[in-house]
Amino acid sequence: MARWDQILSLPVQSPPTLEFSSAELVWSKVEGWRDNIDRVALIPFARVDDFVRGESANKECPTRFHVEARRRRPAESTYKPKVDGILEYILYWCSFGPDDHRKGGVVRPSRTTYVPKKKPSGRPNTKRGCTCHFIVKRLIAEPSVALIIYNQDKHVDKKGLPCHGPQDKKSAGTRAMYAPYISEDLRLRVLSLLYVGVSVETIMQRHSESVERQGGPCNRDDLLTHRYVRRQERSIRRSTYELDTDDAVSISMWVESHQNQVFFYENFSDSDPFVLGIQTEWQLQQLIRFGNHGLLASDSKFGTNKLKYPIRSLVVFNSDNKAIPVAWIITPRFASGDTLRWMRALYDRVHMKDPKWKLAGFIVDDPSADILAIRLLTLFLFHIHLHDQVIV
Ligand SMILES: [Zn+2]
Repeated sequence: MARWDQILSLPVQSPPTLEFSSAELVWSKVEGWRDNIDRVALIPFARVDDFVRGESANKECPTRFHVEARRRRPAESTYKPKVDGILEYILYWCSFGPDDHRKGGVVRPSRTTYVPKKKPSGRPNTKRGCTCHFIVKRLIAEPSVALIIYNQDKHVDKKGLPCHGPQDKKSAGTRAMYAPYISEDLRLRVLSLLYVGVSVETIMQRHSESVERQGGPCNRDDLLTHRYVRRQERSIRRSTYELDTDDAVSISMWVESHQNQVFFYENFSDSDPFVLGIQTEWQLQQLIRFGNHGLLASDSKFGTNKLKYPIRSLVVFNSDNKAIPVAWIITPRFASGDTLRWMRALYDRVHMKDPKWKLAGFIVDDPSADILAIRLLTLFLFHIHLHDQVIV
C-alpha cells in the first residue's frame, strides 16, 4: 500500500475539549518516512491552534511553540493535483530552542547577533537548545485537514538530556523551569489594568506583594517582569488606530494586520457603511465555553461615548455570573440585515471548533432592535427550541 494512501485513510481526530495535546491523539507510524519513522496524525486544520496550545500546556514540561518556518503556496499559482501536493507547511519548534545560548551551546550562524548576557538564566526566553518540534502540512488533496508529523516529541537538547522544565536541574529557580511566557489570562489582566490607567509601578508592586505572601515564585506567572509590563504600557501608549485620514482606508489597513481577530468585515459600499466584527482567539474560547447552553447578550452602551463609531459588545456569563465580552461589532449603523450576516459568520467560526455548540438564549438591550429579525435569527441560526429562553 502506498504511503499517501495510508496517510489519507487515517481518521481525522478532533477531541471534544477546547485544547488538546499529543497525549489525546492516536498516533500512527507510517513506513517509509525518511530513515526514521515519524509519528503522524490528522486533525481539522481549523484546530491547529488548539493543538499548539494544548501541546504548550504540557504538565511535565510547560513551554510554548513558535513558528520556526512557514511556506505557503501562492493562491493564484496553478498546480497539478498531485496526491502529496502541499498548500501550506508550518514548522513549530519549542521556544527553548533550536538555538542554545547556554554556556558552550551552539547557535546557528544566521542568529549570531545575540550577545550573551552576564546572567543568561535571567532572560525570559532563554534558548536552551531544545530539539522538540513538529510539522503541520495542509494537503491539496484535503485542505480542511492538517497532517501533523512529530519528528521529536521529547524536550531534550542535542545530547538527549532534558534542557528545561522540572527535569532539568540547571533550570531550577529560573523561568526555564516553567513556560517561557506568562499565561494568556495574566497577559489580558495586565493589559486591562493598563487600559484603565493603573500604572506600571502599581501593577508590579501588587504583583510582588502577592508573590511574597505565597512564599516566592512557584509558577510562570509569578515571574512577571517589570520590563514586560513596561513594554506593554509603551505599546498601548504608542498605538494609534487612525492609520489614515480616510476611515475606509484606515479600517482596511487595520483589518489587514489583524486578520486572526476579524471574523466579519464589509467595507463601505455605495449604499452601505462598513461593518467590522472583532474577536480574539481567547474570546472565541470563552464564547465556546460559557455560551454553550448559556446566554449571549448584546450590550450597545459600552464605550459608546468615547469612540467615533458605535460599538456593540457581545457578552457571555461565567460561573460567577460575571460578563465576559466575547466579540465586538463596530459599525455606524446597526441594521437587521447586517446583523444576520455577522451572526452567521460568528456562528460558523464557533462551529468550526465545536459542531455541537448551541446557545440557550440571546438577550438584546436595545429596544429599537428589529425583534422579529432577532427572533428568526435565534430560532434558525442557533437551533433554539421554542420552549427555550429568548429574551428581547
Ligand atoms: Zn522544549
